[in-house]
Amino acid sequence: MITLEKPMLDAREYQSRAPTHGNEGKCIFTVDVEDWFHILALPRMPDVSEWNTLPSCVSRNFHAMLEIFRDRQVQVTCFFLGWVAERFPELVKAAVEQGHEIASHGYSHTLVYQMTPAQFLADISKSKRIIEDIAGMPVIGYRAPGFSVTQDTPWFFEQLAQAGYRFDSSVFPGPRQHGGLIAGNRHPSSVETAHGRIEEFPISVASMLGRPTCFFGGGYLRLAPYGLIKRMSKRVLGEGRPVIFYVHPREIDPAHPRMAMNPVRRFKSYVNLDTTRRKIEQLLKDFSFTTFNALLSQRESSGVH
Ligand SMILES: [Zn+2]
Repeated sequence: MITLEKPMLDAREYQSRAPTHGNEGKCIFTVDVEDWFHILALPRMPDVSEWNTLPSCVSRNFHAMLEIFRDRQVQVTCFFLGWVAERFPELVKAAVEQGHEIASHGYSHTLVYQMTPAQFLADISKSKRIIEDIAGMPVIGYRAPGFSVTQDTPWFFEQLAQAGYRFDSSVFPGPRQHGGLIAGNRHPSSVETAHGRIEEFPISVASMLGRPTCFFGGGYLRLAPYGLIKRMSKRVLGEGRPVIFYVHPREIDPAHPRMAMNPVRRFKSYVNLDTTRRKIEQLLKDFSFTTFNALLSQRESSGVH
């Protein structure tokens, strides 16, 4: 464990100084529980005040996902958007009932770098409180919309710790549209802040043509053939890192409504939606899974930080 000297953690310090942990040997399957209209950075996006007026498909799709997880007997991590939890509390309860890990995706789905530290703290505190009240258990994990932790948000970890979170899975260790920390640490690591420690589990990437690429969620998971995803997953595990898969409920529903966007974004957002369910089922069959909490407990009992 390294205690950083500066009270406000600089993201660049995190990249170069954070220690790494050993081989976890397992994968973590995560779901960012949000609706079809929560796609980011579009020219015309509905405001949070309009969300209630839009048709919703998150409930139907999330229940369908829960069925897949139950069939495969896999415990996953559900990063609930606070707004979704508030509007559909039964989804949180159903996930708790099945023994899944409950975590937070913030309340308003705002990119971290578009908020001030105070706005960010308010957003993540609100979602934590709402989800905890419904789940009846502490919520200690967070994932940022669009993995939007950048060099411009050096206060990120400190605010998370202040809100009472203990782990995070938001750092994309490479260049990316909404965020990313170039040359970021690819391994899980501990980040000390003035308000306590955050365990960071970065988004999994594998190098393709020298570029860190995530085959384990989003457009690449839908676009890449299953054999390639499986090979890349094994490569990440072989490098001593857990593979963290991420999906959204809308991605198993080719019939969900579409947002207006340019052709490139349209391709990235909607390509191969009809393949996602099959890929998820196959991944759950081919790999063994754990949860963030289980890894944290394992570390604490072995004294590794
Ligand atoms: Zn999201």
